[in-house]
Amino acid sequence: MADRKYIVGNWKMNGLAESLDVLAQIASGAALHPAVDVAIAPPATLIARASGGAGVIGIGAQDCHAAASGAHTGCLSAAMIAEAGAQFSIIGHSERRADQHETSADVAAKAAALHAVGMGAILCIGETLAERDSGNAVAIVCDQLEQSLPASADSGWLTIAYEPVWAIGTGRIPEMADIAEMHGALRGVLTRILGEGGQHIRILYGGSVNPGNAADILPIPDVGGALVGGASLKAETFLPIVEAAAAL
Ligand code: PEP
Repeated sequence: MADRKYIVGNWKMNGLAESLDVLAQIASGAALHPAVDVAIAPPATLIARASGGAGVIGIGAQDCHAAASGAHTGCLSAAMIAEAGAQFSIIGHSERRADQHETSADVAAKAAALHAVGMGAILCIGETLAERDSGNAVAIVCDQLEQSLPASADSGWLTIAYEPVWAIGTGRIPEMADIAEMHGALRGVLTRILGEGGQHIRILYGGSVNPGNAADILPIPDVGGALVGGASLKAETFLPIVEAAAAL
């Protein structure tokens, strides 16, 4: 599985019922590339309907609560999003770490909650611009991974997404050498902590991936695919990224 590229769209807080047409277009385009794993994380309101028409693509949530149930108004447990039809959830996205003050310990607990109900997790990490400019981005992101990693981590259910915060939605991306350096260092953390199992966990790159840069980013060693925000909202901009993965 580790050799198969994984292309995941994060729709964030975008999408009403009419967006299910886009999902159908993505599903039929993705069916032409069976060697690539493709998934979309729509807003939670669309998960149930999306999972009904997803065809070959996976459907995920964008967050879940770490607790199984209880007094957490407005939150959704892992079992709830699974029942709605999600196979995985994105967790620890930088927008949630910033806006909802989620810590790496919170993220590790969410990962464990997903695993407990048999779901996958895409665990996001990444440095801010100030951290990149400090020259310590690799050490900071490796530490963030270590702090966010659940005890039961393995490639059967866990994916990591390296997303520099300053690259998300900005059109800016790191130098290819910087992506390679970060992914290599993250692989080192995974194998140090998990041994052989850490070799097989996919590490996605995310942050302004688009049809113009996907073919440069996806072949980088230890880049197992892409987490795509803005370009995943339209089939015309998402499917060329899937095609770039299929061409490798
Ligand atoms: C994201 O937020 O996960 C993301 C990668 O966004 P974008 O592709 O728009 O930079």
